[in-house]
Amino acid sequence: MFLAGAECPFTCSFCDLWRWTLDGPTPPGALPAQLSKALESLAPPFPHRLKLYNASNFFDRRAVPVEDLPRIADLAAPFGAVTVESHANTVGPLTLEFAALLSGKLEVAVGLETVHPVAAAHLNKKLELERFDRAASFLAEQGIDLRAFVLLGAPYVPAAESIDWTVRTVEYAAAQGASRVAIIPVRGGNGEMERLQALGHFVPPTLAQLEAALERCLTTRSAVVTADVWDIARLSGCENCRSQRVARIQTMNLTPHPEPPPRIPCSACA
Ligand code: SF4
Ligand SMILES: [Zn+2]
Repeated sequence: MFLAGAECPFTCSFCDLWRWTLDGPTPPGALPAQLSKALESLAPPFPHRLKLYNASNFFDRRAVPVEDLPRIADLAAPFGAVTVESHANTVGPLTLEFAALLSGKLEVAVGLETVHPVAAAHLNKKLELERFDRAASFLAEQGIDLRAFVLLGAPYVPAAESIDWTVRTVEYAAAQGASRVAIIPVRGGNGEMERLQALGHFVPPTLAQLEAALERCLTTRSAVVTADVWDIARLSGCENCRSQRVARIQTMNLTPHPEPPPRIPCSACA
């Protein structure tokens, strides 16, 4: 469920989530009201997992008023697992408080983005790898699941090394205890990506790269790795085999087996 609330205080270069946020702090009561209304339209049986995405950091008090946590937890009671997003820097005591209020298991989704040292420094994310590691160990010690987001095509990663760095970053997240990793192709459209592209620092990722990166990650044993197919139609690729590639990515997402399904040869882009 996408909840509207305060804008994230970080300004990562690749992010466009600010378009879906409010000016000013989230008013108390606003998130429970949105959640309750959204749940009314869901007919039981409910899915196992509820994902609450608020286009910011769930444990930022400005984005999620602390007094709303018990009501949000009550509303989430029918679900066996609840996922929220947070920058590694805001994982802490409030995370434990929320986990204790939930009847289901908490999973925190954290953007690791890339371990490429130059690219990571340019993302404006203010995330040191060491901070990610600490958040990951903290969550593991408390029995809270970790999901990681990893970018494909992060600015300042050379296009020829793009897949390699994505795979390395996925492996890093899995080694730090992430049980799920989502590969997210960087989207243009927020203005900053277009500026970086004009300067030659950003090359939009392609459909074939997404497919190849996911395929290479299927051997990651300790985590389920999936490709984010949001806006997949915007990724450039061969029009002759686009639908087969998208279907193959979806098959790999749904049946994460070390052996990927065979690729149908394409005469146009072989
Ligand atoms: S921390 Fe997350 S929500 Fe905030 S700007 Fe960065 S990517 Fe966007
Ligand atoms: Zn093709």
